[in-house]
Amino acid sequence: MIDQKLHDFIIKMPKVELHLHLEGSIRPETAMALMKRNRVNPLPKKAEQVRNLYRFEDLAGFVEGMRTVSNNIRYLQDLSRIATELLEILAKENVRYVEFDCAVQKYLMLGFQLEDVIAAIDRSVQEAQSRHRLQARLTINLQRSLGVESAIDLVEAIADLDHPLVVGVGLSGDEGKYEQALFRRAFDRAAELGLHRTAHAGEAVGPESVWSAINDLGVERIDHGTRAREDEELVQYLIEKQIPLTQCLTSNLKLKVVDSIQDHPFGDFYRLGIVVTLNTDDPQVFGTQLNDEYLLAADAFKLDETDLSRIVLNGVQAAFLKDSDKEILMRQIRDELQHLQDGSVRVQG
Ligand SMILES: [Zn+2]
Repeated sequence: MIDQKLHDFIIKMPKVELHLHLEGSIRPETAMALMKRNRVNPLPKKAEQVRNLYRFEDLAGFVEGMRTVSNNIRYLQDLSRIATELLEILAKENVRYVEFDCAVQKYLMLGFQLEDVIAAIDRSVQEAQSRHRLQARLTINLQRSLGVESAIDLVEAIADLDHPLVVGVGLSGDEGKYEQALFRRAFDRAAELGLHRTAHAGEAVGPESVWSAINDLGVERIDHGTRAREDEELVQYLIEKQIPLTQCLTSNLKLKVVDSIQDHPFGDFYRLGIVVTLNTDDPQVFGTQLNDEYLLAADAFKLDETDLSRIVLNGVQAAFLKDSDKEILMRQIRDELQHLQDGSVRVQG
């Protein structure tokens, strides 16, 4: 157990979140409202029943639960609503910067235009940014299951749109089923067009998927990367090249990527000097929030205020912001953390 002082420090800390899916951020109450409007039959009677959809025993159950809920996103205002609710929660947790992603291909298949999807999310972002000390950016999720041609088309469309909210692309979906190297052309094109790149790797598949994300796709950071620990050479490479990992402890636990929190390599990665960050992945599905992830990490890996501050600053370092904006954010967050640490020392003394 961590002491009250560290607990309070974590709650008050300014934070950064980089691995967060909009479709995994649908509150059960909101899911109920969308299902009711969509006349889903039988309709869940209580939010508790929706929460049951988020209870699963394995990856297949997780995918099914996610799909059942997120398939109820039918209108652009649904996206705005979910984004608004997500940003409210993040602001309450003192998140100062968030990059979340959105499975845009899903909405293009519903017949919406890319610019309208982005505009719907941007409305929520602008509103949240005007109300809170929070900045948000969006990455566009390329789904492995939809193939490379669809990914390339979307990359081109994102670059044509050139919207300031959108900073990059990510790759997600079944790592085991679709080889990463297949998406090389989409990622090469994204790089040519000046988009930042990340990919889910080293979660369901071992270190080879992390190597492939780096060598075939040229990603700048890795979502998860947990199973990199199985390859000493890869661990050294991540340290040497300072390739950040967006780690999600509760997600890895619930999807059984690790057997227990003690079995999670996060603490070792941090102490070895990998640029690790803490994130929630699908907060409503996994029943977690960013504060929970920090509390869990502090307890399991015996991290103190200095360690946790370092992990927040790793998030700034790993952000897909342009250099001048990143410098400003780094200064603000460093000052705020310093102030908080000084304050807690004084209270102690
Ligand atoms: Zn994820």
